[in-house]
Amino acid sequence: SKAEARYVATNAASRAAHETATASLPGGNTRSVLHWEPYPLCISSAKGYTLRDADGHTYVDLLGEYSAGLYGHSHPVLLAAIAETARRGLSYGGPHVAEARLAILIKERFRSIERIRFTNSGTEANLMALAAAKAFTGRHRGKIIVFNGSYHGGVLTFPFGCQDVWGVKGEVKMESKYEVLRALNAPHDFLIATYNDTASVDALIASVSGDDIAAILLEPMLGSGGGVCATLEFLSHLRRRADELGALLILDEVMTSRMYTGGGIQSELNIRPDLTTLGKYIGGGMSFGAFGGRHDVMALFDPRASGSLPHAGTFNNNVLTMNVGVAGLERVFTPEKARELHDLGDEIRGRINSFKDGVLRPGERRLRVLGCGSILVFHFTRTSLENIASPADWKGDEDPRLLDLLHLEMLNDGFYLARRGYLALSLALLSQDGRKELDRFVDAVQRFIVKF
Ligand code: PLP
Repeated sequence: SKAEARYVATNAASRAAHETATASLPGGNTRSVLHWEPYPLCISSAKGYTLRDADGHTYVDLLGEYSAGLYGHSHPVLLAAIAETARRGLSYGGPHVAEARLAILIKERFRSIERIRFTNSGTEANLMALAAAKAFTGRHRGKIIVFNGSYHGGVLTFPFGCQDVWGVKGEVKMESKYEVLRALNAPHDFLIATYNDTASVDALIASVSGDDIAAILLEPMLGSGGGVCATLEFLSHLRRRADELGALLILDEVMTSRMYTGGGIQSELNIRPDLTTLGKYIGGGMSFGAFGGRHDVMALFDPRASGSLPHAGTFNNNVLTMNVGVAGLERVFTPEKARELHDLGDEIRGRINSFKDGVLRPGERRLRVLGCGSILVFHFTRTSLENIASPADWKGDEDPRLLDLLHLEMLNDGFYLARRGYLALSLALLSQDGRKELDRFVDAVQRFIVKF
């Protein structure tokens, strides 16, 4: 395409960097999601809402490191916390006060979290939460209900379509690339239900013995799954069913904890999970994860108790992460800022969704942006995505070539977003200049549509 030709013509240094990397990293890559064709940009530096690449181009960063980059780049408050921490030593091998301080700050935002433990990633947090659910319920071989199209980490992946191939009870129906994916997943006994579909959950529960189920794990918005939000009715139903079964309800708010006033979707909808998992921006941009919730469940990890569960990890209380995390929550990402960012995201989504000429050929596909607050996910479908409940309602109908093309066109126009049309706006974009860049972006998307 013309867009690709222009990309290749203007990104020679990124290409060279990619070629060098391929000699040591498979595909030049250490995070599969960051690869795109013909080759990804090589980023050389970042500041505020901008990224600079190896060829010297500047981009407006709309990807926001898949939501971990909430603060924008090199925020002065966080830089000061990093410098101060570095002066006092980086890795103590002992408890320190920032650990408890960060725990308190998180507890203030998430009322369901009575006790918390830190990990190094959201994936680890989910693995620990599942282990805790099995131990607490005594259902050591218990099943875990998850949802088609959800993502809880590299080894907890349930891509849309896995339900058809793995079967709702995880039985093998056919050999395919999905089988390989399943083998990569942590070896729990998963039951795969349909998102926002209470009947599918009830049918699964009815088909197994109730006391076989240890936990229900879900994202209150399918993030990687396309920006579909759970309904209040659905979440309430899961809360009720988990109580009846004596199973734990685990909300994965790794991506959604930034929503509304920064207390995640659970605070807005007043849903009280037994456990919550967190990650991304809360470590101020450092590697971070956390799981927490009911006091009696988390007491399993109290090392003073006999038979307590071990929870190890050299960097769980990483001094840098804890200190920078505290600075960010205390001084930058206040509930007021959270609300402002949430509203900005809703405004941008609304503007794009109200384009009159949002129809694209081929196949008369329409652009629709899903998501919630500052997380926006682009889709090109023939199906109306007005009242979408699950990726099942549009998948197969989406044209990935249109997303590829949008991605390259936006890069050529100086906007950095995920290849699959995912954006996570940062606080840096709340500035006057940032808002102007977002106006430019909205115009660029409209031009893209008109061009077709
Ligand atoms: N859960 C959700 C909802 C996520 O979006 C992600 C990451 O994108 C994870 C868990 C995994 O977090 P991490 O990449 O820190 O392991």
